[in-house]
Amino acid sequence: MSDEVTLFDKIIRGEIPSHKVYEDDHVYAFLDIAPQSDGHTLVVPKESKAYLHELSDDAAAALGRALPRICRAVLRATGATSYNVLQSNGAASGQTVFHIHFHIIPRIEADGLEFRFRRHEALAPERAAELLTKMHGALSGES
Ligand code: 5GP
Repeated sequence: MSDEVTLFDKIIRGEIPSHKVYEDDHVYAFLDIAPQSDGHTLVVPKESKAYLHELSDDAAAALGRALPRICRAVLRATGATSYNVLQSNGAASGQTVFHIHFHIIPRIEADGLEFRFRRHEALAPERAAELLTKMHGALSGES
């Protein structure tokens, strides 16, 4: 774990107050202080890592188990049937708090939020082949 204490470490420890939605041994969830929509919830691993690719398997498994449960609670509480789950890594992606977190953002029609992908050019087959060679190589090194 990083030695740097993050804002979300302080929230998990109760040093900064939060509206707690959920907690287990590995995961803490709370309402976003500046919600993009009603019910906007943040889901955070207690393991203090900045980026998703740094997370341990155990913490990732716990997060994967908790996320759909918390999504169901957010939907039940808000009545929404659509939502985005957003997770940013690095300044270029828009991340501002460098402790892994997933945003659960309930959506309703015409809510004015802009989280849609723009249309892009189709993937070139040569580039796909290059990427797969590299990715398969990287994945073969994972235990
Ligand atoms: P990011 O921009 O890193 O993807 O998301 C950080 C999120 O943390 C933002 O949505 C922001 O509103 C939220 N946030 C920042 N500070 C606090 C805080 O002190 N309490 C809570 N509950 N949320 C916070």
